[in-house]
Amino acid sequence: MSNQGNEVLGAHLGIDKSKSKNEKKSRIKVNLKKWFDDGNILPLSTIDNVLHEDDNDHDHNDDNDVNHDNDNDVNDVNHDNDNTKTKIEKEKEKEKSSNQIYLKKWTDNGNTIPICINQGCNNTVSIRHWSSQGDPSLKTECSRCADARKKNKEIPGVTFHKKKYCENKDGILGFICPMDKDRYAEFPSDIYHMDHIDGDHHNNELTNLKTFCAICHTRKGKESGDFNGFKKSSRIHKH
Ligand SMILES: [Zn+2]
Ligand SMILES: [Zn+2]
Repeated sequence: MSNQGNEVLGAHLGIDKSKSKNEKKSRIKVNLKKWFDDGNILPLSTIDNVLHEDDNDHDHNDDNDVNHDNDNDVNDVNHDNDNTKTKIEKEKEKEKSSNQIYLKKWTDNGNTIPICINQGCNNTVSIRHWSSQGDPSLKTECSRCADARKKNKEIPGVTFHKKKYCENKDGILGFICPMDKDRYAEFPSDIYHMDHIDGDHHNNELTNLKTFCAICHTRKGKESGDFNGFKKSSRIHKH
C-alpha cells in the first residue's frame, strides 16, 4: 500500500492532518464504521496503515528489526490500481525531492553513502528510506544490481554477492536451516535476506554479509536479542 493510497483512503475517511493524533484516530474509527455500515470492505493491512499514518516514530527506526535487511523493495509490492496512478506519481516525486534534501544534508555533514557490495560495481547502494532524524536506511546493493539479480539477469563484469540459498544450510548459526536443501532454487529471492552477521548495518565487509532464508534470519534476530537480554539481566543480578 503506497502513501498515496493511504491519502486517497484518508480523504475518504475524513482524515485531517491538523487534528491531534488521538482525535484523528477516533474520527477515523467512526468513519470506518460508516464505511463498513455502507457495506464496504477494506483489507486489514489497509486499516492498520491508515490508523498508523504519521506514526513514523516506531515504524522504521528499530535497528533490531530482523526484516530490516530483507530484499523487499517497497516499490515492488505496490498493487495500486490505474486510476490513482497520476497521484501516485506526484507522491513519488514529492518523496524524491524530500529524499534529495535529506541526501544533501547527509553529505554536507561529511557522511557518505557506501558502494554496492557486488564485486565490479561502483554505484552507491540504494536508500530504503530516511528516518525522521535524517539517517538513511541503506540496502547493500545498488538498484541496478538488485533489479538485475531479481530478474536473473547478469551484468557484465559484476558478481552478485547474494546467494539463492540459505547460508545456514550447514548450521553456521548453531541450528540447521529447516528448509529442504534441494528446493532452495524454487523460492523467490525475496525470501532470502542479506544479514549483517555482527548486526552492524554499516559493516559491509563481504565476510560480514551472509544470505539467510527468512526463517533462519528471523530466528537469528530473536535469539541474538534474547541473548543480549539475558546478558543484561545477568549483569543486573550480579550487583
Ligand atoms: Zn551494484
Ligand atoms: Zn535457512
